[in-house]
Amino acid sequence: MPQQLPILRETNRIIREFAGETPELATTWTFICECGCFGLVDLTLEEFDAAPHVLAPGHTVPAALLQGNPGADTAGPTRR
Ligand SMILES: [Zn+2]
Repeated sequence: MPQQLPILRETNRIIREFAGETPELATTWTFICECGCFGLVDLTLEEFDAAPHVLAPGHTVPAALLQGNPGADTAGPTRR
């Protein structure tokens, strides 16, 4: 079900935060493919930062994930 997909992104973000405590960018870390297949993807932090999503080769981001995350990179006006 699509509900698990944001969890995969969150998991990868937590891995990235943890990995960020080590200064060696050449080290590869194991992330989770965000297409929902739960495949493991080895990436360096440089590769992770350069990629909008963690995906195994040939895998694509499900439409459900894109639709469920509107404007994540554009900070809208904050209203209070
Ligand atoms: Zn996949």
